[in-house]
Amino acid sequence: MTSASRSILIIEDEPQIRRVLRTLLELEHFRVVEAESAERGLSCARTYKPDLIFLDLGLPDRNGMELIREVRAWSRVPIIVLSARTDESDKVTALEAGADDYLTKPFGPRELAARVQVALRHTAGSGPGGTVLHVGRWHIDLKARTARDAHGSELHLTPIEYRLLEALAQHLGLVVTHRALLQQVWGPAYAQQTHYLRVYMKQLRAKLEPDPARPQWLLTETGVGYRLVQREEPGGEQAREP
Ligand code: CA
Repeated sequence: MTSASRSILIIEDEPQIRRVLRTLLELEHFRVVEAESAERGLSCARTYKPDLIFLDLGLPDRNGMELIREVRAWSRVPIIVLSARTDESDKVTALEAGADDYLTKPFGPRELAARVQVALRHTAGSGPGGTVLHVGRWHIDLKARTARDAHGSELHLTPIEYRLLEALAQHLGLVVTHRALLQQVWGPAYAQQTHYLRVYMKQLRAKLEPDPARPQWLLTETGVGYRLVQREEPGGEQAREP
């Protein structure tokens, strides 16, 4: 996927953040459109049909949440919310309103590039289509419900653990909220039982992560949810299925 023809709309009232984003995105060959208010952002979204939107929630004229709902009424364009580290409930509300992910300010260039890549891949429909997931040395077949490493060693995962991995894998690289995970894995009546997640994520990390206390694949997004990432590793263990 080349970024040459792709455009990104930044809706943010702080000129400094806009400038940083523009610089980093232009280095990746994206076309960048800037809007300093919600109204202008909305009109740019309609006019330019960007491939991705960065949205600050604290805009001078309107609440960013309204803007997410409004855009979602007519577009599936990926929306990445720009938020401060402390705004956990805002992040959750934004994700539930239809945002795809968030980026916490201040952010580094690698984090930004990774978020953009994941968000664009999901809309391109070329995301993780297969059912084989690579987490560390484990090759997990979500359909067959088997987990093995390259040497054929088997790992036993419970049905709930498979369902949890499946729910995270459907949004590979993106954050999934506690509520969304609980509803998908346990059912709507369990949406508040976040301690279930703590217990099962701990179990999964103990099975999958080389150092469960410092997870590399099953990441915690404090106060928001979890994120399953896949990293390319030297040595080919992480090589994608053809
Ligand atoms: Ca702001």
